[in-house]
Amino acid sequence: MTQEDIIALKKRLSTPQNIAIVIHYNPDGDALGSSLALAMYLTKLGHRVNVLSPNIYPAYLEWMPNCEKVLIATEQLQLCESILTEADIIFCLDFNAFHRASLLEPTLAASKKFKVLIDHHIDPIQDFDIIYSLTSQTSSTSELIYQFIADKLNDKHLIDKRMAECMYVGIITDTGSLSYSCNNASTYSIVGDLMKFGIDGEIIHKRVYDNFSEDRVHLLGYCLFKRLIVLDEYSTSYIYLTKEDLNYFNYQQGDTEGIVNYGLSIKNVRFTAIFTERDERIRVSFRSKGNFDVNSFARDHFNGGGHKNASGGNSYVSMNETIENFIRLLPQYKSLLNQPWDE
Ligand code: 5GP
Ligand code: MN
Repeated sequence: MTQEDIIALKKRLSTPQNIAIVIHYNPDGDALGSSLALAMYLTKLGHRVNVLSPNIYPAYLEWMPNCEKVLIATEQLQLCESILTEADIIFCLDFNAFHRASLLEPTLAASKKFKVLIDHHIDPIQDFDIIYSLTSQTSSTSELIYQFIADKLNDKHLIDKRMAECMYVGIITDTGSLSYSCNNASTYSIVGDLMKFGIDGEIIHKRVYDNFSEDRVHLLGYCLFKRLIVLDEYSTSYIYLTKEDLNYFNYQQGDTEGIVNYGLSIKNVRFTAIFTERDERIRVSFRSKGNFDVNSFARDHFNGGGHKNASGGNSYVSMNETIENFIRLLPQYKSLLNQPWDE
């Protein structure tokens, strides 16, 4: 984002605009946190703002300020499409390619309206009028939204406690509570700034992480006891969940979020995956320690992408075939996987 971009955007924002903010499919704390904070800011500037999500957000984020105002494409597709079509400005937050907007992709891709991308994923598509994309030295889109409002648009005085809560949720959920993707002084100084708006980090943490259903906690136990496989030879582990498993534990959207990380918590494991059976596809998430690049792995083998240490993708064959394909790929990465990860 250049100085000219900032001037052009400020000019557009100097008169009331219809603004749509679009986030990615299966929105997480960062997608919701960044979009809700940006929406509150733009509303304060006098614009008409709608946040559009391709599908429902997880129940443990329902408490977030203004969450109930988010429009869900799977529930109100026509309304979402007409808001997108009529918007003067479209902000895309926390994703790097239109297909991540799922049902909203066709309208988004066809739109000729002024589009702004704010995101931290590698290799964003370039179909935007303004791109504010940082992929390293930043934790989350929420961190970028803070910088966008406070530093780029010079409006720190418009940030309030509710906006700060939203951005804090985005930062802690994208960094595993400040344990990865946060080796930057800027992340910590922004967290410090957010605290000064009067947020209670401890309460927010409990709202996000101590807010699971009983079924979800049992599902986690089941994954760890019955569905976690370790492949010592490749310093790799994986978890798999079938539809029957999910039904047994009354699966709700978001229930498998975060479970993948447990596969990486084992000593000497530096690459892990979770395979989850959905309708007509197997959803895959990858995590790694150190330099093993799961963004490339997901792109090359699972129609996906993400970041170096956290990525996702899909497989369109059965669970068994998917796992077999995964295991078949490992020998070519063996020497990389068996290198020390912390040097
Ligand atoms: P998760 O495993 O939590 O679903 O995703 C991890 C990271 O990879 C997130 O940053 C997410 O945006 C990205 N990601 C997940 N699935 C996909 C996908 O199918 N395509 C791309 N390009 N990125 C993905
Ligand atoms: Mn994010």
